[in-house]
Amino acid sequence: MKKIKYQLNKLREKILKYDYYYHTLDKPIVSDSEYDYVLKQLYDLEVKHKELITPDSPTQKIGSNLIDKFKKVTHFFPMLSLENTFDLHGYLKFENRIKKKNISSSVIDFCCELKIDGVAVSLIYEKGTLIRAATRGDGYFGENITENIKTIKSIPLKLKGINIPKRLEIKGEVFMLKSDFLKLNTQSFLNKKKYFSNPRNAAAGSLRQINSKITAERKLMFFCHGFNFFKKNKHFKTHYEMLCQCKSWGIPVNKEILICSNYLEVLNFYKKFEKNRLLFDFDIDGIVIKINSLYLQKKLGANNKAPRWAIAFKYLPKKQISQLKDVKFEVGRTGVITPVAYFSPVYISGVFIRKASLYNKNEINKLDLHFNDYILIERSGDVIPKITNIIKTKRLKNAKKVLFPINCPMCNSELLSNQDNKITRCLAGLICNAQKKKLFYHFFSKNALNANGVGPKVINKLMQKKIVSNLIDFFYIKENQLQSLENIGKKKSRKIIQIIFTSKKTTLNRLIYALGIFSVGEVIADKLSHYFNDINHLMNASKEELELIDGIGHVVSSNIFDYFSISKNRKLVNQLTKILHIIPYNQNTQINSIFNKNIVITGIFKKYSRNELKEILVNLGACISNRVTKNTELLIFGERFGNKFIQADKLKIKMINEKELNSLLKSLIS
Ligand code: NAD
Repeated sequence: MKKIKYQLNKLREKILKYDYYYHTLDKPIVSDSEYDYVLKQLYDLEVKHKELITPDSPTQKIGSNLIDKFKKVTHFFPMLSLENTFDLHGYLKFENRIKKKNISSSVIDFCCELKIDGVAVSLIYEKGTLIRAATRGDGYFGENITENIKTIKSIPLKLKGINIPKRLEIKGEVFMLKSDFLKLNTQSFLNKKKYFSNPRNAAAGSLRQINSKITAERKLMFFCHGFNFFKKNKHFKTHYEMLCQCKSWGIPVNKEILICSNYLEVLNFYKKFEKNRLLFDFDIDGIVIKINSLYLQKKLGANNKAPRWAIAFKYLPKKQISQLKDVKFEVGRTGVITPVAYFSPVYISGVFIRKASLYNKNEINKLDLHFNDYILIERSGDVIPKITNIIKTKRLKNAKKVLFPINCPMCNSELLSNQDNKITRCLAGLICNAQKKKLFYHFFSKNALNANGVGPKVINKLMQKKIVSNLIDFFYIKENQLQSLENIGKKKSRKIIQIIFTSKKTTLNRLIYALGIFSVGEVIADKLSHYFNDINHLMNASKEELELIDGIGHVVSSNIFDYFSISKNRKLVNQLTKILHIIPYNQNTQINSIFNKNIVITGIFKKYSRNELKEILVNLGACISNRVTKNTELLIFGERFGNKFIQADKLKIKMINEKELNSLLKSLIS
């Protein structure tokens, strides 16, 4: 518990420091992604240890402490933050939560607006005259910035028109146009003055100037997105009506507003501006969805951080800048050396990323990568993280170039690259401990012998204690040997022995895949077992015969042939065939409900990567396609599914989620 308290304190201290630099000084010292990453660590830890949550934890607070430059004001109504989501799943959870509360039997309308990336302010009008303006501050107390707000031309000092309440609070966002931000930064650069990292910081910095003349020079803008009445108001029933009224009183309101009554309309609004947002001259970082009825808003109320009737559906940054910390050269199962870059965490397309493959020697050379470089990271196809560029102007003096090693980082054998430098391999095979270890992991993995329980942890321990030095040893492990390992007792050791025993009954395609022959994945293994139906026939096949199989070309046939030309490998396979009970191909394939079906996959799955899932389905005879058409027979969707879901919904195609998929696969595979 002491350790947890220490971790919590460290995280809180870190976040408070970031908050201070961001909210109070308008000079963030970390990216928003890094901030969100640390905050999420704190959230996760607090969820596990609810008893240790303190009221002053950053997870319970809004904004930051105030600075003394301005007079402190007490907000008449708390200025809260917003609950947020980065995917439709999160939005649907919000909608369901509201529907579950059963607050209304009729259809609920939602008011969708753009989420302006600016600085929240509160404006108090008395008898239509602006009398006070304040920053959000910590949500309960703000800074009095009335004089500065009065310099913003679009904010009316006096409201015009009828039905103006005696007292009214207008809430909205002060922001700077991107074009004005660029001009300001160019000018600051020329005058050797401090410049801002983005329009939001520039707006925040400009708004909190002691000298309001400086604020006036900065050309700030304003959009209203909220309001509060001091007395019960009978005139307006909906949020939208009130925004229209604000507009007619002369208060700027952004014109992109849509009333939606279902998630598809909300999603369309979100998608429309996801593409178009770069065309605006101001930054938006998402959309905000609010219950339109003011009566229902009031009924739902708020928690201490955010109203329960609204949610921000944020756009995911597609690119992020980070700093390279290290490059590790990993030795794969087949001896291929893969350079992996490690960098400060960044949040892209809904996930935190801290490492990316650098693929090969060529890629490192092409990027001209140096340690501590500032790097641009993207997720190609929105999935795989990739370093796409380097900000060379920010390179540190004397930065060391990243060099590809000449020797294997594990066993020191000389490395060999192919002609185009795309593949560099350690050819030491099972002499190289890294390769041996990975072959063991692979051999017992889910899609190979499926010995669930003989994973990397157990294998590492067995290797360390020298209980196993080759694959055959696993089948002769004794209970007492397992019990000599840390954290393995009587029960667990028995279970492991049982699992290894059960894994002996396997199929020919699984065995071929399990051998880990270079370039033989599940699909090729399946083809080989289908064609030869006997491991001995495969072992004795010539290259020419192998090439007769559809999908097997010169390279793959050479790899298979070379593998079986090594007597050690033949000996291993012979030993394995004596130990294992191998079921031939024709007995393990049966016509099943997805055989020959046109299937499309969308979203992210908890249990499988998209490729893994594809291979499993292909092995079961399904035809996988990337596009939903009228010929699609089944859509399998995971979390954060995309457009395919909507298309399939429109075409009334049968859809199943991951849970349903799991039970389907269970019924097909068992
Ligand atoms: P937020 O940015 O998620 O959004 C809440 C705010 O959105 C509201 O207060 C409101 O002012 C504004 N908003 C814009 N358009 C709106 C509309 N149409 N309707 C209603 N509200 C609208 O939350 P936050 O609490 O303001 O800021 C937290 C975020 O700030 C963090 O997630 C992080 O990304 C960033 N941050 C970064 C650092 C750093 O060091 N980089 C430090 C602190 C916070």
